Amino acid sequence: MGAGFIGCIIMESLAARDPQLTVVEMGDRMVPRMLDAVAGAMLRRWCEARGVRVLTGRRVVAIAAAGEALRVQLDDGQTLEVDALLNATGVRPNIAFLDGSGVAVDAGVLVDASMQTSVAGIYAAGDVAEAVEFGTGLRVVNAIQPDAVEQARIAALNMAGQPAVLPGTFVFNVLDTLGLISASFGQWQGVAGGETAQLLDETRFRYLRLAFAGDRLVGANCIGHTEHIGVLRGLIQGRVRLGEWKDRLLASPLQLGEAYLARGLAMAH
Ligand SMILES: Cc1cc2nc3c(=O)[nH]c(=O)nc-3n(C[C@H](O)[C@H](O)[C@H](O)COP(=O)(O)OP(=O)(O)OC[C@H]3O[C@@H](n4cnc5c(N)ncnc54)[C@H](O)[C@@H]3O)c2cc1C
Repeated sequence: MGAGFIGCIIMESLAARDPQLTVVEMGDRMVPRMLDAVAGAMLRRWCEARGVRVLTGRRVVAIAAAGEALRVQLDDGQTLEVDALLNATGVRPNIAFLDGSGVAVDAGVLVDASMQTSVAGIYAAGDVAEAVEFGTGLRVVNAIQPDAVEQARIAALNMAGQPAVLPGTFVFNVLDTLGLISASFGQWQGVAGGETAQLLDETRFRYLRLAFAGDRLVGANCIGHTEHIGVLRGLIQGRVRLGEWKDRLLASPLQLGEAYLARGLAMAH
């Protein structure tokens, strides 16, 4: 239940045991919070070619015992009889205990750039915190390990009396689904008024989509292009001004490495 990041990781280890697998996802595609429609469809095709049945746009509404098996009812009226059901529908901060404490919460515990909550002297970091996002300035819960570590470091410095700020929580994910690597960075959906470049090779399961705002790369989705993952992160997180390299990337997205050498490293020095 759930074709998100965790569902796909679990699918990888289950598939090694060669069971009959069905994945049910309520979104209109696989990994909808990380991949656009083209990438989600490509991942689906990859999984189906490896014998996984993928049901999207459907929600599990009831689970009942049926002898040794489980009967799983979907919202389209379909019923699946299964040996085991794995729940991979995501994590949510457990913050109800803060009711009435004065610590402001939304989806998570709201923190400022120093990781301090609305109550002076109380800090939050990691999966429970809702911190300002690097690209948009909006607050998000970004439940990934590197962010948890960095948020905790900033919180600890401030708690120890050494002022430090988080430049913004950075949304990125790299996922291995049955051997196909996909990745998303920053504002991968694109931004209003921005431009995008796309490279698609359906036969070889390779996809790259770059999203620009002005002459900066602000987000990306990719499948199969593992050689560019570090460069994509560097260009986006470094807020690198691409100048004339933006047009070159629009025409030829695979020139990312050259763009980084020409502009990213130039900015760093
Ligand atoms: C299956 C899975 C795979 C993942 N894979 C990746 C990955 O590939 N890459 C990546 O970047 N991230 C991944 N993540 C996310 C990553 O694990 C989290 O972002 C990270 O662990 C967050 O760290 P944290 O310290 O905020 O929370 P946690 O690691 O969840 O630690 C919180 C701890 O607090 C304890 N706790 C909770 N309530 C209380 C309480 N009231 N009193 C005392 N202790 C309490 C919990 O038991 C837990 O040990 C994955 C997560 C899961 C579940």
